[in-house]
Parts: sequence; C-alpha cells; structure tokens
Amino acid sequence: MSDAVLPHVTDRTRFFWEAGREGRLRIQRCAACGFFSHPPYPRCPLCTSTAVAPEPVSGQGAVYSFTVKPSPRSDVPATVIAVIDLDEQPGLRLVSNVTDCDAAAVTIGMPVEVHFEERDDVWLPLFRPRR
Ligand code: ZN
Repeated sequence: MSDAVLPHVTDRTRFFWEAGREGRLRIQRCAACGFFSHPPYPRCPLCTSTAVAPEPVSGQGAVYSFTVKPSPRSDVPATVIAVIDLDEQPGLRLVSNVTDCDAAAVTIGMPVEVHFEERDDVWLPLFRPRR
C-alpha cells in the first residue's frame, strides 16, 4: 500500500477514516429505522430521517467483486481492488483492497475481515482473509 492515494477527509467522513484509531470499523446508521448506509449522507436513504450517526460494526464481510491491478515491478505484489459486502446488512458495501494473501487466491464470496493501515492520521480500512 505504499502507493496508496489518501482520501479527501471531510467533516462528514472523518469518523470513517479515523475509526481505525480504535481498531473498529464504523458505518453510518439511522437511529429511526436501523438502516446502515455508506458512504455517509446527511439523511437516511431509506426513511429520510436526519438521526444518523456512526456506529461500530463487526468488520466482517465477504468479497462481492474484485479486480487485480498488476504491479509494474516484480518485487511488488499486485493490488487487489475489491467491493466488500459487510455482514451487517445485505447490499452494505465499500470499496477497499484485499491484502495479506496472494492476488490469485482471492475469490468472490471469500470471507474477509477488516484491518487498518495508518497514513498521516487517516486509517485506511483494508480487508484480509478471515482467520
Ligand atoms: Zn432510516
């Protein structure tokens, strides 16, 4: 991840990018209906309530889709860019990388868990095969 492009952090997304400080992934959830949504919006996309706030989630999920970006150098592994389906709710997904395994070993539906890489006060949520 040495070539990671850091996200543009805003007041609305800060909780997401700093969640790794405590080692727990946090996703916006609606207090009125319980619906999780990502990326965070000022209103719940399901019931339009403004009673939305970050909530810790398990960090467990599965690979929904992925692509492999080959490395230009033989000593640097390929990057796996993946859409991760979080366990908390059907269709609750985020884009991340799958790490800690060979790119050729990644499959659709593979169970993964979050871990974080800290870069300049941003904690990138990455996913690795579940142990
Ligand atoms: Zn709602």
